[in-house]
Amino acid sequence: MNYIGFPISAIIYMTIFVIIYFSKKRIDLFENKLLVVMMFCNLIGLIFELACYFAINYLPDYSTMQMFILKTYIVCIVVFIYLLNYYILILTDKNYATPQYQIKKHFKKLTIIFLPLFLLAIILTYATPLHIYNDGVNVYTYGLMTNILYYVSGGFVLLWLLRSFRAIRSRDKKNLERYYAILISILIVGIVGTITQFVEKSILILTSMHSIILVIIYFTIENPDVKMINELNLAKDQADKANRAKTDFLSSMSHEIRTPLNAIVGFSECIKTENDIEAAKKDADDIIMASQNLLEIVNGILDISKIEANKMEIVNTHYDLLANLENLKKLIIPRLEEKPIEFVAKFSEDLPRMLYGDIGKLKQIITNILTNAVKYTSEGKITFNVSCVNEEEYTSLVISVEDTGRGIKPDQIEKLFTKFDRLDEDRNTTTEGTGLGLAITKSLVEMMGGKIVVQSVYGQGSKFTVYLKQKLSSSSASELENQELIETNLIFANSNVLVVDDNKLNLKVANKILQEYKVKTVLVDNGFECINHIKEGREYDLILLDDMMPKMRGTETLAQLKQIPNFKIPTVALTANAVSGVKETYLNLGFDDYIAKPIEKEELRRVLAKYLKPSGKISKTTTTTPVVKETSSSEFAGKKVLIVDDNKMNIKIARNFLRPYKFDIYEVTSGKDCLALFESSQEFDLIFMDDMMPELTGTETMEKLKAMGFKLPIVVLTANAIAGAKESYLKKGFDDYIAKPIMRVELDRIIRKSFGRQSEELNLDDIKNINDDSISCAILPKKQDTKGNIDYLQANNIDVCNALNILGSIEIYDETLNNFYEEIDQKIKRFRELAIKKDLSNYEKELIGLRSDAKYLGLNELFNVCYKQHIALDMAHLKEYSERIIILLSNVKEVVSKYI
Ligand code: ADP
Repeated sequence: MNYIGFPISAIIYMTIFVIIYFSKKRIDLFENKLLVVMMFCNLIGLIFELACYFAINYLPDYSTMQMFILKTYIVCIVVFIYLLNYYILILTDKNYATPQYQIKKHFKKLTIIFLPLFLLAIILTYATPLHIYNDGVNVYTYGLMTNILYYVSGGFVLLWLLRSFRAIRSRDKKNLERYYAILISILIVGIVGTITQFVEKSILILTSMHSIILVIIYFTIENPDVKMINELNLAKDQADKANRAKTDFLSSMSHEIRTPLNAIVGFSECIKTENDIEAAKKDADDIIMASQNLLEIVNGILDISKIEANKMEIVNTHYDLLANLENLKKLIIPRLEEKPIEFVAKFSEDLPRMLYGDIGKLKQIITNILTNAVKYTSEGKITFNVSCVNEEEYTSLVISVEDTGRGIKPDQIEKLFTKFDRLDEDRNTTTEGTGLGLAITKSLVEMMGGKIVVQSVYGQGSKFTVYLKQKLSSSSASELENQELIETNLIFANSNVLVVDDNKLNLKVANKILQEYKVKTVLVDNGFECINHIKEGREYDLILLDDMMPKMRGTETLAQLKQIPNFKIPTVALTANAVSGVKETYLNLGFDDYIAKPIEKEELRRVLAKYLKPSGKISKTTTTTPVVKETSSSEFAGKKVLIVDDNKMNIKIARNFLRPYKFDIYEVTSGKDCLALFESSQEFDLIFMDDMMPELTGTETMEKLKAMGFKLPIVVLTANAIAGAKESYLKKGFDDYIAKPIMRVELDRIIRKSFGRQSEELNLDDIKNINDDSISCAILPKKQDTKGNIDYLQANNIDVCNALNILGSIEIYDETLNNFYEEIDQKIKRFRELAIKKDLSNYEKELIGLRSDAKYLGLNELFNVCYKQHIALDMAHLKEYSERIIILLSNVKEVVSKYI
């Protein structure tokens, strides 16, 4: 053992190597950890290799210390071989680098095989005698364990060589460098080590050779950079694969979606040029059919995404089983078209009538297997069979659909339920389908705790059987029918719905469907306009708001709407974005409900019934919209209410709104008169106070009254409805705030609050709609003359019908219009003067007053101009602005002069 040059130099470079290894960034993988353990084991081995030299030369032969050092050196070699064995067998495994490879599991398996061998080797090393050969020239050790070590190592080397060769032969090219690296290391150590050791027995070379293996492994396999790149390549491969699957899916989807779209577009074109109404009807039928196919495809994709995201919910209701089965039968017959197929439906006699469960999903399941039977059968017979086994509380349904169609090959049956996978023969054929139907069906059946079984003989036919448990229901069929009848017969003629959608066609469709429920609709195509409508105080009972709009999305629009004081209108997201979980997202964002486009009538009816007051049939449904309770004459009768407003017309309007409450109403037209009234020791229960009055403003009057010690509620009644106005008035000391034009619901809230009454949510049966006494412009007598002819006003862009909704009666409208007409010249004069004087603040007051008048009278153009001017008011444009107002006022004057 004279040559200690190898271990010394190996210790030096291994130390440097370890330092470099740890100074670099590493990927924390199992194999890296193994390599680190091997490196330390090798360093310890090198130290013992060196120690052997000293033990042989300087310690007494066969002393305990000498034996311990020599034997531990052998143990180090055994440990290294043991670890290297793990490393090589893991890296050359055929599944290594695939996502399904579980390295720890493999490690455990190897441990079970090799650990006993390893422990035995260590015990033998220490337990068996070790001899020293020393002829003066050569010094080396020998004994049982050294011999075993040589043979076992040889065996391992052979095993590794085999594994590497096999891996190189069969494995993918990308991983070749890994196998080559292992192979080369083994060959170097095997050949060089064995020859050297054979020629020069006393040379200490084995552990140094191990160091070389580690270095080769490091530079080829475990180099962090190389490893990182490999990992990236692997991730890229997987992403590419996923991408390819997606592209395949998209291209097949594109084909599937284009087919019905093509029919829709084509037949629509035909309808345009068709002269014969019957032919046009036939085309329309085809359009509907194609649209339904399209919808089925999209719904399929949505269902799958819902199922995958665990968002599919079971919605249990009481349902009439037989009625639903009969319905399904009716729906499937037209699909048979002209095929020579006999369709037989057999429903067992003992089927329970009423069940409790998710009928929607059950229908989906049955429809799917029925349509498949029709699709894949060209002649023969389809049998739709439903039987059951009744228990005490449940029934086990057995639903089967048997066809004499083309059948399915035995090896294909497993593929049936894989999503996106159509059987080979269906690819590129004309039979429509996405390969999603059965995957969804199976998931739904399993979600409902059932089972689906397929039996098929290729070329002869198939039978799909669904086993499903459903709860027996105690409701009777007639109860259910009654309820459905009530719900389906609702109309909402008194309700105003604002529909917001950037797509004109969508607006048209929504409008059409809403018309069926007699709802009054206002359509706008952007969020800004929607916000303006609400800020202007237009009364709506419901907003249907699209989300995906350019410039301002629906969600942003809603956020801004919520900033508007007193905004309480139920707002429903009406959107084509229907992927799983989206409903929850919209609800979390503050929408009250969600309807997916294309609008399903049942969904819309549900939403309308939930948020609107039916005007037609009485329904048991309670509404969540706050409603004005019929004011019993005794409740507020005799309470003294004072209205303070410099504008007589406003006072009249307020009186009209307050009429149902049977108050004793007093009025004054200035702050000064109001104070005078109080000084003369008049007592009131509530004051409605305008703010923008000349001389003493409402705010100043209120402050003075409070300073004088009056403790009654003072409500500011103002046309100043800009965001934050309410808060600012409340801060100043007003008890409440109501914006003009007055909304009945809001007024009712304030009155009840002021008199300490709770606003109540009432059953519709108890409600008499306070609007009922307002007159509909449709029933006003028609006149030929322009005098008193509201059609004439309507024709001249004066929206009397809308104004009547606010003012309540044609008499009040006429009177108000008269007052306004008389003041027009004065108004024109004032606007002109204020513009010349550049009196911005009074111009603004005048503008706000005019805006409110215009609103009450249905002077929409004037109202819009006032509104826009108010927002963009500035000194430089005052003249230009006033001119525009003056022109409009003059026009109104001219029109109205012929009416009054
Ligand atoms: P698809 O939308 O293609 O009909 P499904 O998931 O409903 O998708 O069905 C998957 C495949 O199973 C179909 O493409 C068809 O090849 C086969 N299949 C389904 N039902 C039948 C049947 N009754 N007879 C023969 N083959 C069927």
